[in-house]
Amino acid sequence: FSNQRTPKSKEAMDSLYKNPNEPIEARIKDLLSRMTLNEKIGQMIQIERTVATPSVIKDLSIGSILSSGGSTPFDNALSSDWADMVDGYQKSALESRLGIPLIYGIDAVHGNNSVYGATIFPHNVGLGATRDADLVRRIGAATALEVKASGIHYNFAPCVAVCKDPRWGRCYECYSEDTEIVRKMTSIVSGLQGQPPQGHKHGYPFVAGRENVIACAKHFVGDGGTHKGVNEGDTILSYEDLEKIHMAPYLDCISQGVSTIMASYTSWNGRKLHADHFLLTEILKEKLGFKGFVISDWEGLDRLCKPHGSDYRYCISSAVNAGIDMVMVAVRYKLFIEELTSLIESGEVPMSRIDDAVERILRVKFAAGLFEFPLSDRSLLDIVGCKPHRDLAREAVRKSLVLLKNGKDISEPFLPLNKNAKRILVTGTHADNLGFQCGGWTKTWYGASGRITVGSTILDAVKAAVGAETQVIYEKYPSQDTIERNEFSFAIVAVGEAPYAESLGDNSELTIPFRGTDIISLVADKFPTLVILISGRPLVLEPRLLVKIDALVAAWLPGSEGDGITDVIFGSHDFKGQLPVTWFRSVEQLDQPRDRVAACEPLFPLGFGLNYINK
Ligand code: BGC
Repeated sequence: FSNQRTPKSKEAMDSLYKNPNEPIEARIKDLLSRMTLNEKIGQMIQIERTVATPSVIKDLSIGSILSSGGSTPFDNALSSDWADMVDGYQKSALESRLGIPLIYGIDAVHGNNSVYGATIFPHNVGLGATRDADLVRRIGAATALEVKASGIHYNFAPCVAVCKDPRWGRCYECYSEDTEIVRKMTSIVSGLQGQPPQGHKHGYPFVAGRENVIACAKHFVGDGGTHKGVNEGDTILSYEDLEKIHMAPYLDCISQGVSTIMASYTSWNGRKLHADHFLLTEILKEKLGFKGFVISDWEGLDRLCKPHGSDYRYCISSAVNAGIDMVMVAVRYKLFIEELTSLIESGEVPMSRIDDAVERILRVKFAAGLFEFPLSDRSLLDIVGCKPHRDLAREAVRKSLVLLKNGKDISEPFLPLNKNAKRILVTGTHADNLGFQCGGWTKTWYGASGRITVGSTILDAVKAAVGAETQVIYEKYPSQDTIERNEFSFAIVAVGEAPYAESLGDNSELTIPFRGTDIISLVADKFPTLVILISGRPLVLEPRLLVKIDALVAAWLPGSEGDGITDVIFGSHDFKGQLPVTWFRSVEQLDQPRDRVAACEPLFPLGFGLNYINK
C-alpha cells in the first residue's frame, strides 16, 4: 500500500500546506486561509464512529472520529480489522475538498485494550505502585506501537488525576493519591509520543514518528479531588491547592510536548470545567503555555445544562468561548454545526476563537505527520501482543504487586510458596478470570468477564509455575467437600472487584464483593492461605479476616499477564511494589480530614510494602 494520495484539486496540489519542508506554523497559516467556515467547524468536531458515514466525513470535513468506550468494528476484532476500518474513514477524509486527514481516537488506557490479542498492561494504580518512571515510559512506547498498528492515531491517555478518595469509580485509572508520584509517572507521555529533543519549544505538541501516537492528558483539572469521590462531582479547593495538588502533573505533560488535554466533567467550586475560561484559557493556554488542543469529554458540552443538552446553544457558546477547541460531539453533529454557525454569525462566538481552535487542531495534525502518513503502517501488525510486549507487561505486574502481610508472625514468613508442594488449592472468583484481572476499559467500556483476550489467568500461571509432581486443584467457589476431604500444603485465594468504569464504579461501601470474605474465611480456617486481591483500589479488610490469613498481596488490576504474579509469589523475583494510595481501615475514616486519617492510623500507609529481603 502507499501512504501517498492523489490530491483532488490543482489548488490542493500547489498548496504550501502540503509541503512537509515548510515550517508547521506557515503550513497552518496557509491551510487556514483556504478554509471555509464550514470546514473550520468540521475540524472542531469529533464524532462517534457509528455515525461516521463517508459523506458525513467528506462533506463536513470532520476533524476526528472516536470509538467511544473502545466500540469495536465487530466482536473480537483484530488489529488488522481495526486498521482496515480506520483507513476506510481516513480515505473519506482525504477525499474532502482540502484533503485534511482526520484523527482517530480511542481509550488505550492500559495497552490497546479494545483490540483482541493486544498486550494488556496493569491499570495505572498498579503502575503507580512500581514507582518506576522508565518502566512506565516503555509501556507508553509499547502501547503506542500497538495502537498505531491498529491504524489509530490518538490515545485518550494518560489519566493524570490525583485520586484523593478511593470511593471514586476511576481510582484505578490514577497512578496515585500523591501528586509527586503522579508527576513521576507522566513519563508515559514520552513513551506514547516519543521524547522531544533538547530545546523543544515549550508547550508545543510533539509526536516523534510513525511509531508514536498523539497523547491526551486528562481530565483537566481536579477530577480526582471531588467531594466524597463522586464521579463528575465538585472539587472544592482554593486555587493554590488546585494548582499544587491537581495541576502540577499537567505541567510535566506539557513540558514533554503533550499534544492534547481533555477537559474534566467535574466542577471546581461549583463551576463546570468545560465552561471555565479562567482555567482553560487564562491558566492552561496562557499561563502554562499549552499550544496543542483542548478536547471536551464525551458529550461534555451537553452536561453544561440540565437536562443534559437541553439548551445546546448555550452549552456550545459557553464551552467554545471558555477554550474548548475540539468537541467530542458524539452524535449531535448536525445541531452542533447549526448552532455554532449561528453563534458565530451573531458574534456570540468570535471568529478569532474559531481560528485559534482550528490552528491548534491543525498544529497537532501537522506535528503528528498525518498529512505525510495518513494511513496505517501494516508492517507494525506483528507487534500487537508480541513476546517482548508481554514480557514488559509481566515485568510491570511483578513490580506492581504490594505485599501487605507475610506470615502470621513476621519471624515466620509464609511466602515465597513452594513450587514443589504436593497439592495446591486455587480458588476464588478472580483465580481464573482474565476479564476480571483486566478490569474496566478492556474489551468494553465497563470491562468484561471470562476469557476475553489472549493472556494468562492466575490459575494458568500457577499451573505453569509448579513442578511436575504438584497437583493443582481449582474450584471457583470452594466446596465444603473439597475443604473437608483434602489436605493442601496451602491455598491461593483470589478475590476482588468486578470490572467497572466511571460512575458505575462509585462505591461508598468498598467491601469485597462476590462473598469474597466468606471464601477467604472458609479456606483460611482450614489451610495456610495466601490471598491475592484483584481490585482497582483498597477494599475494607476486617481485622478478624486479616488475622486468619497467612499472606496478603494487593495485585491491583494486573491485565493479561498473570505469570507476573507467580514469578513473585513462588520467589523467582522479590516484591517491589509500594502502596500508591493509603489503605484505610474503614470507609468512615475516609470522611476524616486527610491529616486526621494519618493521625488515626490507616491500615497500611501510603508507600507501605513488604519484601523478602528486608522481611
Ligand atoms: C471519559 C473519558 C474518555 C471518553 C471517550 C468519557 O466518558 O470520561 O475519559 O476518554 O469517555 O471514551
